[in-house]
Amino acid sequence: MTTPGHPHFAWRDGELHVEQLRVSELARRHGTPLFVYSKASMLASLSAYQRGFAGRKSKICYAMKANSSLGVLQVFAQAGCGFDIVSGGELERALAVGAPARDIIFSGVGKTRAEMARALEVGIGCFNVESEAELEVLSEVASTHGRTAPVSIRVNPNVDPKTHPYISTGLKDNKFGIAHERTLAAYCRAAELPGLRVVGIDCHIGSQITDSSPYMDAMERVLDLVEGIEAAGIRLQHIDFGGGLGIDYQGVLPPAADQLWSRLLARLDARGYGDRELMIEPGRSLVGNAGICVTEVLYLKPGEQKNFCIVDAAMNDLPRPAMYEAYHAILPVKPRSGADESSYDVVGPVCESGDWLGRNRQLAVQPGDLLAVLSAGAYCMSMASNYNTRSRPAEVLVDGDRAHLIREREQVSDLMRGERLVR
Ligand SMILES: *Cc1c(COP(=O)(O)O)cnc(C)c1O
Repeated sequence: MTTPGHPHFAWRDGELHVEQLRVSELARRHGTPLFVYSKASMLASLSAYQRGFAGRKSKICYAMKANSSLGVLQVFAQAGCGFDIVSGGELERALAVGAPARDIIFSGVGKTRAEMARALEVGIGCFNVESEAELEVLSEVASTHGRTAPVSIRVNPNVDPKTHPYISTGLKDNKFGIAHERTLAAYCRAAELPGLRVVGIDCHIGSQITDSSPYMDAMERVLDLVEGIEAAGIRLQHIDFGGGLGIDYQGVLPPAADQLWSRLLARLDARGYGDRELMIEPGRSLVGNAGICVTEVLYLKPGEQKNFCIVDAAMNDLPRPAMYEAYHAILPVKPRSGADESSYDVVGPVCESGDWLGRNRQLAVQPGDLLAVLSAGAYCMSMASNYNTRSRPAEVLVDGDRAHLIREREQVSDLMRGERLVR
């Protein structure tokens, strides 16, 4: 059996495999909780975008905040992706895997002067500027360092991505981007600032978008702006439509990347902008369904109202349910055939009632069994914390019949490093 959206994760001979390898064997070798990623799954997601852009001048910049582990970045760097970064730390990670600086674009509303200076020093491809104040500061920093900063302005197209409020970013009252009405003025200012060179325009309307209409709307609005900006004599070399395409967590299927883009490109051509370099910044849709988190059942705790299945992974490892009430499928690694199922809330050991991974799940499990939390490739490890002084999990990248440990499990000594007793 294969779960929809997860073709590289399949149950064969009574147990879950990732590509050619048994998950139970990886858990035995590396312990739990454990993140396991499929390289083939990442490349398959990427190839849907590549098919969509075949024959176009385009650049796919992986939004690395979705999963910034070096072994994951390496997969995308080797596949020719650029990177969308949101901090100086992410810049160093991209450089560490050998990404050419010109393929790095820098998003985010709060870039510091130090981050700007470092990005200018290495020569990144574009700063996605998010406010008029940032334009001024960036120009100043660039001039001080004798450089010219390539800039794109992130515009806020004010479209509703119809997703969770915490992950929608393209509405008027979000902190992101420059309002539609201010865009032309901001471009005129950028064009006259001595430290800047205008190269493009960008937008990013939200995350986990499962419908094509917000993208269609955003494209029309961005192209309206492009018309106005170019009429003012400012030429835009690239148009960046951001990321945000959703994945299947629970049977809600977003459009396939290649189909979505064939519709969008048709509109782009119809409006006469088909010759521009296209950029996109997908994160979740490249890695989300390429990862699982393997966890061991510690205790079963039956109750009057609810039964709890207490596992060794928690909200510090998998923050999405606690943060967004997100759904992740949770399935036994070795299903007990014929055993009676009960309804459980799957919870972790952290001392918070918000520490749950799944609610009302039908499971036939016993302590010591392994469970797989699906769709855990994006916004899990990269958001993991050490709350409750819990070490972050190890990560394994599976490539066919080979498993590469790409991150060791943290030691408690790692967590206390840098702390000092008062003397
Ligand atoms: C987070 C983010 C992305 C990626 O979003 P996904 O939903 O993971 O595809 C792209 N661009 C910007 C500016 C972002 O902040």
